[in-house]
Amino acid sequence: VFQLSVPLNFLGSVYRELRQSLLDMETLFNLQKVNIAVKESEKAKALELTKGGEIRFENVTFGYHKDRPILRDLSLTIPAGQKVAIVGPSGCGKSTILRLLFRFYDVETGRILIDDQDIREVSLQSLRKAIGVVPQDTPLFNNTIEHNIRYGDINATSEEVRNAAKRARVHDIVEGLPDGYNTMVGERGMMISGGEKQRLAVSRLILKDPPLLFFDEATSALDTYTEQSLLQNINSILKEKARTSVFVAHRLRTIFDSDKIIVLQNGHVAESGTHTQLIGEGGVYSTLWHAQETSLGDNGDAETDSHEN
Ligand code: ATP
Repeated sequence: VFQLSVPLNFLGSVYRELRQSLLDMETLFNLQKVNIAVKESEKAKALELTKGGEIRFENVTFGYHKDRPILRDLSLTIPAGQKVAIVGPSGCGKSTILRLLFRFYDVETGRILIDDQDIREVSLQSLRKAIGVVPQDTPLFNNTIEHNIRYGDINATSEEVRNAAKRARVHDIVEGLPDGYNTMVGERGMMISGGEKQRLAVSRLILKDPPLLFFDEATSALDTYTEQSLLQNINSILKEKARTSVFVAHRLRTIFDSDKIIVLQNGHVAESGTHTQLIGEGGVYSTLWHAQETSLGDNGDAETDSHEN
């Protein structure tokens, strides 16, 4: 048994190394579900945010498999500088919209425009530089917390890293760790909670300070109190800098104050407007809102959400 365990251990570490380098690569390119086949046009120019970051989908049809369209003839506008929420049943294509904007895939028909430029005609580098995402689950580097936050802007000073962490409501937690900002995280480092991870991702985004910000269920792992205080901080940053932001959310309480709420169903927009307008219309959003409000637990948390599966 002893003789066998040596090579097995060795293989284990090779496997871990391999897995890790793949993970780092993934983190590096922010690849979670990436299609490497997306090609840059030879005439690609740098994206210019002439209108402050207006996003438009025009008659977009897209599916991961040809015979199964997820988005069907979808048209929508996310006005520059506004906070927009995308809601709808699980699997209806909310995250897909964000992936298309990042150009992990290209649309089959229709087009996606940012400040009137078709995203297929701008350089991938300039497009991705303009966008910051807090995904559902953020992969962390096997490195210190400081390094993981600084990934948002490698030239940031220690003070800037700490300020970002404060705004993301994670500074006090980090300070409380024995090694503080030097604590190793990632697969080989300290285990941190999903909520802490989300706040590190938000710190990273604050540091990157991109003109377009996407939050994909970005605060879902937080308790209601922490979530509210983090959302308030995010809102104040968005307002202060007039950033365009898109929130994908299940819990409507986290997005009801958006400038615009887009309800997606069967691959297209079922309803859109402000919370007050949508409640007034008494449609899908209104039904969902009332269902979530009545299922609120004692701690103010929604016990059920709009997941269908
Ligand atoms: P949720 O609210 O559950 O996160 P969503 O509305 O964000 O869902 P998407 O993640 O956009 O939904 O997925 C839309 C559909 O596309 C789902 O049916 C999903 O299974 C499918 N899908 C997502 N990613 C891929 C992929 N890489 N390959 C094939 N199908 C995919």
